[in-house]
Amino acid sequence: MIINKGYRSTNYWVISAGTSRLLVDLGWPGTTGKLGANLRRMDVPLHEIRYGLATHYHIDHAGLAQELKEAGVPLLVIDLQVSAIPEMKKWTKPNDNYVDISLEGNVTISTSESRDLLDEIGIPGEILYTPGHSNDSISLLLDNGSAFTGDLTHPVLVTEEYRALVTKSWHLLRERGAKRVYPGHGPIYPLGD
Ligand SMILES: [Zn+2]
Repeated sequence: MIINKGYRSTNYWVISAGTSRLLVDLGWPGTTGKLGANLRRMDVPLHEIRYGLATHYHIDHAGLAQELKEAGVPLLVIDLQVSAIPEMKKWTKPNDNYVDISLEGNVTISTSESRDLLDEIGIPGEILYTPGHSNDSISLLLDNGSAFTGDLTHPVLVTEEYRALVTKSWHLLRERGAKRVYPGHGPIYPLGD
């Protein structure tokens, strides 16, 4: 089951296998109350979220990562994302109320370890490295073809500068079975050939 509890034009997805849940993308800084209210409205208790995963470390996708950790939701980090984490605070202003993400206490794995970890929480799929929007961008691809791609540029909107990288990422997603795209912003769309 997939639900979107997004706000402020950004999608935050909850993927559930019964009461075992994964949260994909982690809210704007300073919006703990809003996120909490949306989760409650969708009947998703925080303690059922096994991991929080940011598709990439931009403030609209990972802004609440530390607060979620402090509330008991472990942060799942892909090893190639680690260096992007400290960079994020450059893009925040004091009145954003951003809580800096500590590198302590995260669950850090490689993409090749992702299937086993997802299996443990009953969500069949894998995490793929899909750069193009940023160098730390990953996608979650479920075995049913649902792909959570964060801000990976829509195939028809890609500009020349990033075309090669973005195209390669979409190619990987298709090759591994992606059928539907759950983007970080905007509606779900089918992935054409
Ligand atoms: Zn972004």
